[in-house]
Amino acid sequence: MIKVKKYITLRECFLACIEKPDLTDEEAKTHYWVGHNGKRGFRVRIDKWLAEDTRVWGWAEYKIRTIHVYVAEDADIFEVIELLSHEIGHFQRPRYPFGHDEEKKAEQYRKVTTTAIEMAKTLTRQAGIQPTITRT
Ligand SMILES: [Zn+2]
Repeated sequence: MIKVKKYITLRECFLACIEKPDLTDEEAKTHYWVGHNGKRGFRVRIDKWLAEDTRVWGWAEYKIRTIHVYVAEDADIFEVIELLSHEIGHFQRPRYPFGHDEEKKAEQYRKVTTTAIEMAKTLTRQAGIQPTITRT
C-alpha cells in the first residue's frame, strides 16, 4: 500500500523533498534545485520556483512508500489525479536512479491517465452525461 502525506503549503512539501525543511527565505535566494521533467533536466532558484503558481505538486519517497503532496484549494481534481498517477508510477518497476529515466517512466503513467481522462470527458460529453466524482 502507498501512503499519502498532505502538506498545507507548497513550501513545506518542497523543502521536505530537498531535505532542507529549515531553509530560510534568504537562503532560498541562493539555493538551486536540479529537477527532471521526463524530457530534460532543469536548474531553478528555489525562491523563484516557490513563487510560481503551482496548484498541485508532489514527490515519492520509496523507503516509506509515501507520496508527499501539496494541493491548493483551487486545484482541479484531474490535476490531482494526474499528479498521483505520476507519483504512483515512481513505485513501479523497473526503478532507475534519480534522473531522466525515472521521471520519463513516471510521466508515462501520467500520460496514460491524462489520455483516459480526456477520453472519459469526450465520451460523457457525447452521451450528454455530466460526469461526477463521488467520494466514499
Ligand atoms: Zn517524478
